[in-house]
Amino acid sequence: MITIQGQGVSAGIAAGPLYYYRRVKSEIIRAAVQDRDAEWQRFKDAQAEAVRQLGKLAEKAKREAGDGAALLFETHQMMVEDLDYEKAIEEGIRQEGWNAEAVVSDVGARFAEMFATMEDTYMQARAADVKDVSRRIIGILTGTVQRGVHSDVPVILAADDLAPSETVQIDKNKILGFITEGGSGSSHTAILARTMGIPAVIGVGDRLKPEYAGREIIVDGETGAAVIDPDADVRAHMMKKRDDQIGLQEMLSQLKGRENVTKDGQSVRICCNIGDPDDVPSVLANDAGGIGLFRSEFLYLGCDDFPSEEFQFEAYKKVLSDMEGREVIIRTLDIGADKQIGYFDLPREENPAMGSRGLRVCLNRPEIFKTQLRALYRASVFGKLSIMFPMVTGVWEVREAKKLCEQVRRELDDEGIAYADDVQIGIMIETPAAAIMSDRLAREVDFFSCGTNDLAQYTLACDRQDGEPGRFFDPHHHAVLRLLKMVADNAHRNGIWVGVCGELGADLALTETFLSIGVDELSVSPRAVLPLRQKVRESNVAQVRDKLIGELTGDQIQP
Ligand code: PEP
Ligand code: MG
Repeated sequence: MITIQGQGVSAGIAAGPLYYYRRVKSEIIRAAVQDRDAEWQRFKDAQAEAVRQLGKLAEKAKREAGDGAALLFETHQMMVEDLDYEKAIEEGIRQEGWNAEAVVSDVGARFAEMFATMEDTYMQARAADVKDVSRRIIGILTGTVQRGVHSDVPVILAADDLAPSETVQIDKNKILGFITEGGSGSSHTAILARTMGIPAVIGVGDRLKPEYAGREIIVDGETGAAVIDPDADVRAHMMKKRDDQIGLQEMLSQLKGRENVTKDGQSVRICCNIGDPDDVPSVLANDAGGIGLFRSEFLYLGCDDFPSEEFQFEAYKKVLSDMEGREVIIRTLDIGADKQIGYFDLPREENPAMGSRGLRVCLNRPEIFKTQLRALYRASVFGKLSIMFPMVTGVWEVREAKKLCEQVRRELDDEGIAYADDVQIGIMIETPAAAIMSDRLAREVDFFSCGTNDLAQYTLACDRQDGEPGRFFDPHHHAVLRLLKMVADNAHRNGIWVGVCGELGADLALTETFLSIGVDELSVSPRAVLPLRQKVRESNVAQVRDKLIGELTGDQIQP
């Protein structure tokens, strides 16, 4: 039995075989082949497998987000079998005698170059498709695992670290738990694990060894403990704890249908953070009042190319319809920093968290932004939509973004396409600049939602991805909490509401502080809704408000 200790970032206990996540190796070896017919057949087999994989992806997209969503994969299917493309590959293999992967790589690059130089913008966009399709065939030919988990049984997934783009593409039905060598509690991978309700332990370092693959492991996402080859006593103890947790969940489920109101009568909305239309059932199962943050960039992270307006429209429409008139706040694309997407070709930066990120990318690439805004406005007739901009630092950015919204609405008017006329516009307050300017920003928008993950990172000058800063990264730091109070005061002075959608929203040690400063909405992962409701209902804010605000604004030195 081997016990290793990390940091628990998504509560729950999971047991199963340990599976190591493998990444794509992209090195292509060029070689002349002896048997050209056999090599051609190898290509034909890989081509058939690519068509099969794309068919499955199209079906999945159709099931989860409608017909429009499947279009990209169907286009790719056609491209794999395109006669010109196939003929060029046949020449490279049969006439010139090169191995299939090298030929596919050459032909893919040549076709991409040809598309990229065409006049027509539609044809230009096909360059990325042909590259993607060629990558898929090469992956099959070289036997490198494209992505994800190739196991017949559900597993505990181990990795050095997982990028959000990797986490989002993994088949969730195959994952019982996560364990990673690196990472931090407010990284997007930890956030995703919490949203999916999957136990996760991070930061175990080199105590996690590849030779443990296939052995039984139990992870405790609360304490951060992981046990490999547990003995009978430890297994029994952990399983009892798991049963107790399930019992607690059942007890909390009695709070469904109850109000989020304190003993002294103060109400707060409790909503959920999601990253996928498929998360909606767990939002409803946990009786949340709405969606306070839909991280729309996860749609982009799950695609191999820019998601079309139609694909996005179907996804947003699904979330809005499934939420049946409850509030849905969709945050516009927040890529950059740890959420990098190859097809965006963002510049390489020394410090990406400080650079091209969130609204900055959207304002610099308005054509991409407008595609998303069109999809959002078109979907708005299916529910109660609010649009929220991330990574704001000042008033001009919000005005420019709102102008693009106006442009999109005018275009839809011209095309006779309907949209709701009550779509609210809000911003995330997640930079110190936005918090400090919140008195002015409040005049521009309908609401604020505080992203405490980034607000803490930028205020405390500690990278949220990095486990290292340790005690210096304290999200309870009064600098962060004072900023939140200032933002809440400025919001209310200007007649708008304020929420908290960062991970601190679920931190029960701060619930009374948030209520004391008048936060109107807390948006948390689905599993955190009922514990939070319980905490709110036990609280008496009138009794603690003066003391808590006094501590916050007074002389007390932390910790
Ligand atoms: C935040 O920064 O607190 C937030 C909610 O956004 P994200 O975690 O996606 O950056
Ligand atoms: Mg953020």
